[in-house]
Amino acid sequence: MTSPTTGTAPGTGPTGTAPTGATPGTGPTGATVPRAARPAATAERVRADYAALKARGLALDLTRGKPSPAQLDLSTGLLDIGAADLGPAGAGADHRNYGGLTGLPELRAIFAEVLRVPVEQLLAVGNSSLALMHDTLVHAVLFGVPGSGRPWGAERTAVLCPVPGYDRHFALCEKFGLEMIPVPMRDDGPDMDEVERLAAADPGVRAIWCVPTYSNPTGAVYGEETARRLAALPAAAPDFRVLWDDAYAVHHLTDEHDAHEAHRTPEAHEEHEAHDQPARPDGATTPTPTPAPAPDILALCAEHGHPDRAFVYGSTSKITFAGAGVAFLGSSPANVEWLTGHLSRRTIGPDKLNQLRHARFLRDAAGLRAHMARHRALLRPRFDLVERVLRERLGGLDGATWSRPRGGYFVSLDVPDGCARRTVQLAAEAGIRLTPAGATFPYGRDPRDRNIRIAPTYPALDELETAMEGLAVCVLLAALERS
Ligand code: PLP
Repeated sequence: MTSPTTGTAPGTGPTGTAPTGATPGTGPTGATVPRAARPAATAERVRADYAALKARGLALDLTRGKPSPAQLDLSTGLLDIGAADLGPAGAGADHRNYGGLTGLPELRAIFAEVLRVPVEQLLAVGNSSLALMHDTLVHAVLFGVPGSGRPWGAERTAVLCPVPGYDRHFALCEKFGLEMIPVPMRDDGPDMDEVERLAAADPGVRAIWCVPTYSNPTGAVYGEETARRLAALPAAAPDFRVLWDDAYAVHHLTDEHDAHEAHRTPEAHEEHEAHDQPARPDGATTPTPTPAPAPDILALCAEHGHPDRAFVYGSTSKITFAGAGVAFLGSSPANVEWLTGHLSRRTIGPDKLNQLRHARFLRDAAGLRAHMARHRALLRPRFDLVERVLRERLGGLDGATWSRPRGGYFVSLDVPDGCARRTVQLAAEAGIRLTPAGATFPYGRDPRDRNIRIAPTYPALDELETAMEGLAVCVLLAALERS
């Protein structure tokens, strides 16, 4: 896939070394991006713009990556699946009753393909993958993971955290007393030289967080080579784990067909194209893009002699209903046995009616892709807008770089060093809420105080434009104050 980032020098990554908004580059569709529309604004103009912004008394929010109401409406059909469809199904089990600890096989089959986990090794449990990550850590801290038996909580345990990264991963580590070691993020995953160095030297390093597809917040997509190196990693800790959070596995913003598609047989391709796609509320159908799957981390780990190394997570939170979806956890047979052993003490079984509704609604992996194309139609204009405003307003500002993601839910903005906190503060005073500066780093510590995560999915387009224009004014003023 093409690089998701922009920056100040061609060809590198989200840590601030990629092609700039002021330099012609390649957009999400591969189109050339024009030069910045205007030079950096004058000091008086910036101050006047900020005063005018404050005077508007805005109340806008760019904080959390939530689906918009229009996105949620795409899944209203889930609620139309009624009693007639939800009775005894499958092997005659009554889904209204207890049981079925590992989740509904029909639904697991759909996500087994997407998450690249053999269906018998994929659990469908609860409505939140974050909760499953939480549980994995709790079990590891209390009891240790298979192959070791040393509880992570009994001795110093450190987790490698690619930065910028997902604040809730960091919050979990902090809660359970797991030390966090930041590792720079590149366009194709973490700096693997650094990961290898740290993991080989320190037996306390027992895990790494990974968001392999459209990473939160940079949009980086892990390459095969990165995954291979993670799988092969000669870690000093025998119980080293890769926490593979594939939250955005099918959340593409482009309709690019990838190498995966190129390798399909013509017959498979025709069948795929002819798939009976679920109708939109207006009756139209949308062409189905083929997702670029994340590397098959479980197979790679097995191939490199570490079959129990990876835990894979995913959910339908940003596919159907964020509060009423289904979460998935896949791993090796030994890890799955370990997990279900703990899970069986925690619950007598998941909500199989919701799982059945999801299976009926999505139908299969192709139906899922068709559904995601409808999300894309709503999301793409928002990401294009963010890119346009950043390019027009900050394209001439030294030190301002941002990601141009090809999927996922976020844009990662780097402002000039030392300006992120002040920008967020200025924005708050002008009625624009932003994710706190530092949130994308462990312990809230962004060493250069420059990264801001932008979540463009929820606000209406006009509000998003106002918020982005306002944010740009705040960045310019913060930079001016520091100069
Ligand atoms: N993982 C990542 C990388 C996310 O960005 C998010 C939500 O923003 C989640 C997990 C939360 O997933 P869930 O709703 O399944 O708990």
